[in-house]
Amino acid sequence: MLKVVVVGLGKFGSTLAVHLSREGAEVLAVDRNTRLAEAVADKVTVAVGFDATDLTNLEAYDAGAMDVGVVAIGENFEASVLVTMHLKNLGVPMVYAKALNDSQESVLRRVGADQVIKPEEDMGERLASHLLHDSVVDFVELPQGYSLRRIRVPEQWRDQSLAELQLLGKFKLNLVQVRRALPAEQKGDDPILERIPLPDGSMVLRSGDEIDVIGPDEELKKYD
Ligand code: ADP
Repeated sequence: MLKVVVVGLGKFGSTLAVHLSREGAEVLAVDRNTRLAEAVADKVTVAVGFDATDLTNLEAYDAGAMDVGVVAIGENFEASVLVTMHLKNLGVPMVYAKALNDSQESVLRRVGADQVIKPEEDMGERLASHLLHDSVVDFVELPQGYSLRRIRVPEQWRDQSLAELQLLGKFKLNLVQVRRALPAEQKGDDPILERIPLPDGSMVLRSGDEIDVIGPDEELKKYD
């Protein structure tokens, strides 16, 4: 089960926390305003009122054990920076932070945010692409029991071609794309992420690759 800590329960953070919880994620929802935490208390796993810039509070609730952190603090940018740093230092593998503008985005990335969300701009972009290509969908509902998931290539598949592996025939997994981290061009830069859509049978999977596949939940569960 995906474990997510959401810090900041304004409109954005609380909507996110409640939806994630409804879809089965384990959600730790935090706001320094206790009333906002109480407002979602019966809709998330744990809701708590504390100041998340204080590292000891995050430690007390084991925020470092979460898979994903979302820093959804709005106006208080200093707090967003500190909380992003704390979550990364505690070992949260994927931290999303909300930014109000480009300069906030670059600071948040500097302090370790893996993804930066600019809700209004992101929505504007999405709406534009919907209007332009109405067959492009953000979310495709699959039949009950099927999902599109990103999985890390298991060790036993490494160095084998897709033709050899026969993911669809043997594992009922339909491959959509391979995500491969290539070494950075210059020292100190982040690795470059290569996305290879619909690769043919000659493609050889490597250790560290991730693949996006559609398949039955029963099968996908084996690769969690
Ligand atoms: P939105 O645009 O999503 O409504 P807001 O700026 O209104 O965003 O909400 C951000 C929330 O983050 C507020 O509820 C605020 O109390 C919370 N917040 C701000 N600083 C901290 C902090 N240090 N620790 C925990 N929550 C915080």
